[in-house]
Amino acid sequence: MGVIKVKDLIFEYIRRDEEGNVEGITTAVDDVSLDINQGDFVSILGHNGSGKSTLAKHLNAILYPTEGTVWVDGKDTKKDEYLWDIRQTAGMVFQNPDNQIIGQVVEEDVGFGPENMGVPTKEIWERVEESLKAVGMYEFRKHSPNKLSGGQKQRVSIAGVIAMHPKCIILDEPTAMLDPKGRKEVIRAVRALNDVEKITIILITHYMEEVIYSDKVYVMDKGKVALQGTPREIFSQVERLRKLRLDVPQVTLLAHELKQEGFPIPEGILTKEEFAEAIDRCADML
Ligand code: ADP
Ligand code: MG
Repeated sequence: MGVIKVKDLIFEYIRRDEEGNVEGITTAVDDVSLDINQGDFVSILGHNGSGKSTLAKHLNAILYPTEGTVWVDGKDTKKDEYLWDIRQTAGMVFQNPDNQIIGQVVEEDVGFGPENMGVPTKEIWERVEESLKAVGMYEFRKHSPNKLSGGQKQRVSIAGVIAMHPKCIILDEPTAMLDPKGRKEVIRAVRALNDVEKITIILITHYMEEVIYSDKVYVMDKGKVALQGTPREIFSQVERLRKLRLDVPQVTLLAHELKQEGFPIPEGILTKEEFAEAIDRCADML
């Protein structure tokens, strides 16, 4: 079993009026199954309201299945006795870094998690140092978080999660509120955690450029998994993605359009480098 396993998950929000009478039911996650192995980098794409956040909240026991089962490191999230184990195994990073940072000083903030876990003081400082280094924020350890940029703050919140030594980090649109520079910093840090520390990553995003590094991509639509595959398999389906109201990376789109015009270019071009190579080969043939 993978570090995260989701089987036949259904989640319904029950909407109530002011008197508490049931007004209706929204099926936010509708029969989803996932199996994510230790060390994988998985991305979840989907337009607004497709159920990504609801799914993510099941992966560290913020929400519990209406039907189906979620296991984190083999532990059923429905069982109360596993709650703290699960929260420690699967750390969560949200959209707004301002809501996640509570310390007055960066290093203090990063230390809160391990402190709450009862980690001995000496080890807390070791963890704070290693976590800040892992996200490239060590030199800011004595700074006030208030003065940092959005990308820096988000890297501090990621450090706060990794200081708890999770096996897996779930990031729910961590770059949505950042400028392009901040987005790049955060994605670079996340990739390093996966490459170097072998932490399992589940990245929820709607920036297409951010998912090209993943081992696997899931595309959600109306609570269901509409597509799954490698980034190349996913981005080879430009028309399908458009129907799911998703864009593709600009180079992928350009390559697709040239192919439509009859140029011998493969589908699923992901980077500028691949695009340049394909164009070179094209030029050789003409
Ligand atoms: P995403 O993260 O992909 O935007 P969400 O998981 O937030 O999607 O939402 C999925 C569906 O569930 C949407 O239809 C949304 O309106 C609904 N929903 C989300 N949160 C709640 C809530 N707290 N109460 C009722 N409905 C909700
Ligand atoms: Mg969301």
